[in-house]
Amino acid sequence: MKLTLIKPRLGHSEDGKYRDKAVMEPLVMAILKALTPDDVEVEFFDDRIEEIKIDEDSDLVAITVETFTAKRAYQIASEYRKRDVKVILGGYHPTHMPMESIEYADSVYIGDAEDKWLEVIEDVKKGKLKQFYHSKNGMSKDCLIPDRSIFKGKKYLPVGLVQFSRGCYFDCNFCSVSSFYNKKYHFKAIDHLIAEIESQPKKLLLFADDNVVMSHKLSKDLFRELIPLKIKWASEADINMANDLELMDLMKESGCIGQLVGFESVEEDSLRAMKKTPNLLKFDSYKEKLEIIKDYGLFIWGAFTIGHDFDTQRSLDSILEFSRIHKFILADFNVLMPYPKTQLYNQLAKENRLLYDGKWWLHPDYRFGKSTFIPAHFSPDELADACYDARLKYFTIGSILKRAFDFKVNMRSLYSIGIYSLLNYLSYNDAIKKQDIILGAPKVEGISLNQ
Ligand code: SF4
Repeated sequence: MKLTLIKPRLGHSEDGKYRDKAVMEPLVMAILKALTPDDVEVEFFDDRIEEIKIDEDSDLVAITVETFTAKRAYQIASEYRKRDVKVILGGYHPTHMPMESIEYADSVYIGDAEDKWLEVIEDVKKGKLKQFYHSKNGMSKDCLIPDRSIFKGKKYLPVGLVQFSRGCYFDCNFCSVSSFYNKKYHFKAIDHLIAEIESQPKKLLLFADDNVVMSHKLSKDLFRELIPLKIKWASEADINMANDLELMDLMKESGCIGQLVGFESVEEDSLRAMKKTPNLLKFDSYKEKLEIIKDYGLFIWGAFTIGHDFDTQRSLDSILEFSRIHKFILADFNVLMPYPKTQLYNQLAKENRLLYDGKWWLHPDYRFGKSTFIPAHFSPDELADACYDARLKYFTIGSILKRAFDFKVNMRSLYSIGIYSLLNYLSYNDAIKKQDIILGAPKVEGISLNQ
């Protein structure tokens, strides 16, 4: 049997030249490879950086799908199916939209990969692939080491991707993690993760966790075990990490260089409306907490979503100012996106405020960076332009230089200066190039996407 794994790209620019650059190894593909028995031949195509050899034979094509890549995934799936090759789609988007995804595939895999992947392979061998597989969410209880051999020869950033946990206990109204994991939190056995880290050569790692400090106790146990490995790492964490100095000590000692923090807003009303509970605990002390994180020399990458019902242009100006004052290495000023099956999506649908017929991810007129709903205090275009403008302002040479002058973090060492410069360069380029991208590939003959 031959299995073809595919990671789809986001889209293309009007001139057809845009291609994702500076991408990281997609961990889920290495997990699928590790879950697949050795007697199955596996080929992997990363559509972001290489051409898919669509004419090659395969017994099953498995495509990982996010909402932003759904259109491209459906195009690829349709191409294979024209040649009678079976296709299975999995990931966040098919899990949330199985009835949509099945229109473009032979099978839809709902939930995390680990639980039912072997059953999929066995069914293909017997010629009995089912239409739907419902997997229990969670990480493998066995010591499953993702098989990264499939990345050999492909050009990725020199950063390894690993994962300690998935999911989150919180219930932010816009968050698809919360709807995917139903407010549950799953984690890997620490000794399994340590074995995985030791099995790969990279010393700079990104933990692809939704919140690496969801459980302070578990995180401390993990960080203690990371110390002897002498790695450097970054991840995503909530601001309350700063309340626990033992956690911060261990985080630093284990090689952490920075965290992405989802601030979303700097206004309490907005945070309450979106149910961003972790940020509301002692809300007044954002500043104090940020100072603590800086004292540990950790980079902060601030992430914001703009367009919540309390948000105005003034809110966005405050966010920009806040990010500059605290000299975040990077800041994302994202247009709030209603992902399917989130509370936000359902609320906007009920209020008739969704644009693009409610399916922006498939709509031919949608462009990356646009608002896909009618905001309360902006027009959709005003919101998109304001966020793009904030991004441009954050990445002017003057702003980059001003933010660099931070001797606790950004200019703490030559290494810090290098990371700061590289990330600002990559993010600026990414922000500019991605804006107005058309999702999917240029028109593919014979494929209708129902829109
Ligand atoms: S805290 Fe973060 S991961 Fe958790 S529900 Fe909110 S946005 Fe999602």
